[in-house]
Amino acid sequence: MVDRIARANKLDEKSWQIVIVPEYNLNAFATNINLIALYNGILELLVGDASAIACLVGHEIAHHTETHTALTPVEKAALITKIEQEAQQEALAKKQNAQTQATGISIGRSAARIFGGRAGRFGSAVLGNVSSQRSKVSQEKIDKIVAQKKEELEKTLAEEDRKREFEADKIGYLYSAKAGFEAEGCLRAMKVLGQTPTAEFDTTHPTIPKRIEALKDLMLKFPAISLAEESRAIISETKPLTYDLSKDRKSLRLNSSRGGSSVDDVERLFDN
Ligand SMILES: [Zn+2]
Repeated sequence: MVDRIARANKLDEKSWQIVIVPEYNLNAFATNINLIALYNGILELLVGDASAIACLVGHEIAHHTETHTALTPVEKAALITKIEQEAQQEALAKKQNAQTQATGISIGRSAARIFGGRAGRFGSAVLGNVSSQRSKVSQEKIDKIVAQKKEELEKTLAEEDRKREFEADKIGYLYSAKAGFEAEGCLRAMKVLGQTPTAEFDTTHPTIPKRIEALKDLMLKFPAISLAEESRAIISETKPLTYDLSKDRKSLRLNSSRGGSSVDDVERLFDN
């Protein structure tokens, strides 16, 4: 599945790592190093339905290609520290009845890196205005501002997560359909996810009915048959990618179109 998706969408310039997590959890996840992780739980529920599984694989691949990297705990802690500092300054400013003005403060490199162009909006929404004037302010007031800002941060992060899920659904569908898998596979995968009790507790993911609705709209706009037609030639002109165990022997490595051996590549480049 990953091979077909990678070739059909020209995503075979880098290798992919694939791992099955031996847990009966239902989500899948994408981390750095191009790792696609699928839980046994979802694979059991969708066993025999290659198109549904391919859609989930496409979704995870999309998280990589759209660089949907989650905030690391360190980055999040740094944001919180920043918020605390800003809250202190804000409380000071309030006390002194300083005139507020929009400053468009930076929210630190980590957040800027994660959210790219959205950092500005995000930063000013979360951090507000600051005055550098100094005086003593009650801790209670500072705590209140910190709590409020933390809540806003969590909301913004959750919102961002939901947006990313829709985006990954969309691109995941396009990827798997281009690779020739059935469009309905995406709907079947969603239904299975929606029928599981754990899905309801997941606040970072949008509700399943909304995701199904968005997918159906997309399928009308970009019919799977024409998507598959677009990449039929590339699939037939390219050879299936090779695969090996990863170096740590914990995942499968789907090699890039260059193959899985740097030694072979050196030999190919230099005859003697
Ligand atoms: Zn996702």
